[in-house]
Amino acid sequence: MKISIIIPAYNEEDNINQIYAEIENVLKDSNYFYEIIFVNDGSTDHTERRILELIEHDDNVKLISFSKNFGHMSALIAGYNHCNGDAAITMDCDLQHPPELIKDLIKKWKEGFEIVNTLRIDKNQKNIFKKYTSYYYYKLFELISDVPLEKGSADYRLIDKKVLKEINELKEHELFLRGIFYWLGFKKTSISYIANNRYSGKTKYSLKKMIHFALNGITSFSTVPLKIVATLGFWVSCLAFVYLGYTLYSYLFFQDVISGWTSLMISILFLGGIQLISIGVLGEYIGKIFIESKSRPRYIVRLKKGI
Ligand code: UDP
Ligand code: MG
Repeated sequence: MKISIIIPAYNEEDNINQIYAEIENVLKDSNYFYEIIFVNDGSTDHTERRILELIEHDDNVKLISFSKNFGHMSALIAGYNHCNGDAAITMDCDLQHPPELIKDLIKKWKEGFEIVNTLRIDKNQKNIFKKYTSYYYYKLFELISDVPLEKGSADYRLIDKKVLKEINELKEHELFLRGIFYWLGFKKTSISYIANNRYSGKTKYSLKKMIHFALNGITSFSTVPLKIVATLGFWVSCLAFVYLGYTLYSYLFFQDVISGWTSLMISILFLGGIQLISIGVLGEYIGKIFIESKSRPRYIVRLKKGI
């Protein structure tokens, strides 16, 4: 039996050796063969060099280097596309996902689960902003999509090779992995862990990346925003129609119509606002169709080592 460990790394030069050592420590006296696939997501520091140094004296370490930064999801998918274990485990490079948990993931897999998810318990989360945005995001996601996304879902998970095969066949460009695993089915379970703080370096998820990730998650799994907009549009039009009747009525039966400035402005602004939101939401979905229709590859590999 072979376990593939997939680790996306974007400017993580000071974490590579540490995570390697800890994984090695966990797996060396297990009975499993294993490979550790680092996916270098267009790092501009010495991440690639550190990985190549590891490869020199350990055949189990492998490298996929992207031609530029394609993002965390693409890195995970590249790992899935290139691994050949009986089970694949994805984890972050910054040691926030404790490597000791690998044993528990494998244990659950041995019990017959095909997807073993992990749930993060945010005991040490210092970033209040991240804590709250994440909390409300999961709440919103739950509310408006058909896919239940457990609070604290992380991209630290084990999947069986059966699931891997299905993932590798999905053609979606902007794959939202956390949701797709629910969509796929299979026998699932999850285990909780307390997230460590980052070992070294800063978070690679800027606000911009977080917003993109959040919007992508919602628009990948839900057409509810389209429905909300349509319903809102309907009711606002009804109101506007009633108001139109009222203005006509007052024009015909009362003479003092000049005083309508305030209500005019309110309705213009209100309707304008609703229209802009609606166009924005439509745009998000059309943009998705546009991206999917080009069917460009999710990532471009510049260098492979050991694969
Ligand atoms: N990552 C990546 N490409 C990116 C951003 C992040 O491969 O564009 C990797 C990063 O190196 C790390 C993992 O994704 O291994 C999670 O990123 P990070 O720890 O910065 O996110 P956070 O834990 O702060 O949400
Ligand atoms: Mg992290």
